[in-house]
Amino acid sequence: MTKPLSAPPHYDVVLAGGGIIGLCTALFLREKGLSVAVLDKGRPGYEQSSRNWGWVRTINQAMEELPLALASRPLWQHWATEGDFGYARTGLLSLAQDQEEWNALENWLAAARHHGFDARELGRSEISALVPQSRGQWAGALYSPGDARAEPDLAMRFLVRKAEAAGVTILPDTAVKSIDIQGGRACGFETETGRISASSVVVAAGIWSRWLCKTVDIVLPQLKVIASVLRTEPVDGGPDPIIASSRFSLRRRMDGGYTVAQRNSSITYVTPDSFRFLREFMPNFLKQKKLLSVRIGSSFVDELRQERQFGKGRPNPFEQYRACDPTPDRKTLARTLQRLREDMPMFEKTRVAAMWAGVIDVVPDALPILSPVARYPGLFVATGFSAHGFGIGPASGKLMANLIMGEPDTLGHEHFTLERFGCNGERTQAR
Ligand SMILES: Cc1cc2nc3c(=O)[nH]c(=O)nc-3n(C[C@H](O)[C@H](O)[C@H](O)COP(=O)(O)OP(=O)(O)OC[C@H]3O[C@@H](n4cnc5c(N)ncnc54)[C@H](O)[C@@H]3O)c2cc1C
Repeated sequence: MTKPLSAPPHYDVVLAGGGIIGLCTALFLREKGLSVAVLDKGRPGYEQSSRNWGWVRTINQAMEELPLALASRPLWQHWATEGDFGYARTGLLSLAQDQEEWNALENWLAAARHHGFDARELGRSEISALVPQSRGQWAGALYSPGDARAEPDLAMRFLVRKAEAAGVTILPDTAVKSIDIQGGRACGFETETGRISASSVVVAAGIWSRWLCKTVDIVLPQLKVIASVLRTEPVDGGPDPIIASSRFSLRRRMDGGYTVAQRNSSITYVTPDSFRFLREFMPNFLKQKKLLSVRIGSSFVDELRQERQFGKGRPNPFEQYRACDPTPDRKTLARTLQRLREDMPMFEKTRVAAMWAGVIDVVPDALPILSPVARYPGLFVATGFSAHGFGIGPASGKLMANLIMGEPDTLGHEHFTLERFGCNGERTQAR
């Protein structure tokens, strides 16, 4: 994978970030015949894109994102014929614990129905038939047979190989320090190994996008949320569909084990950005407060110190943190496993094989930013996927490629602009 930076110094498009979004965008641009380079400060795919649960879903996706979710399905299916990364259309079952959760699922289905896809309500007997392993008394469930699972780490390795085979230049261990603006136009990146120039540049840097944009005074309202995951050793006779519930969630793995997590157990630490973006995030936070725990720790001071180190001509945290690998919340994971065992006693003796965590990039309305930056022609941003970016990554890459090429699309780019946060105007100077 490693290639020296003696590659051509100029590309049509250069991207900062080799997660699923950067790689998918690069792939579609290359298919249109452009020369493309993807730079990653560490190993492409190592952050969120290989740490996630591996759900490729439509259920509970925001209405604005549903076209991306539906357009991603055939892309995943096609790629699965080219490589084995555990992709399987096993369906997703979203179980409601009580009437309140059931009402929320029904409301979602009522709004989503006109998109014309396969999600439907299941009665008690249908739930038992689909997951006979569960002893739970569920208030109701939605089931989408077309939703799918994949192994994120294998999918990322597949995408890296596919992109390279298509002619995308991938440069690992190449941190982008800042965006190069000349004459008011974005024309490349300053990297730790030198300058690289391009006609268009894309920030697809996951949780780091906020700081990369700040190097040119664009203030992205983006916060970090930590989510923990475990995987079990192989289990015989477990459920095949993905199961989503507020008690536990699980997905069968290619190795026969399960990836297990709890969706309402994410943690956010108070940082200077928590205060800066309080107003923007408060409405969504109030809606989701049961899903998130807010903690105070050393991160406030750590981030304050780090903030001053981003930018041109000096060592950056981008170089210091090649791989964001936070400590998992073992207590919450132990509780989640206990709940799973209570509901499905077949997991009683199953051992935990590994635990890990990932840091999710969240924006105030939890919709991605897939957008040009009006203030700097040539600059584009693809970030803020707020925990939904793996499944919708393929179509998001396609949408970005269309935006960069100035071609029309029907995937809803009007919902994903930077302007919705006032990021192109004078407010950006303040923070
Ligand atoms: C625990 C967890 C569970 C999740 N579950 C799901 C799920 O089941 N389904 C789903 O659809 N989504 C899920 N998500 C969300 C999904 O993983 C993300 O939305 C998606 O991977 C984001 O991709 P990305 O390319 O934007 O970011 P990332 O994958 O984080 O990639 C960003 C890349 O940019 C690089 N980078 C950063 N700064 C620089 C720089 N200055 N220079 C060069 N490179 C840089 C990083 O090294 C990194 O490789 C989950 C996320 C987590 C953490």
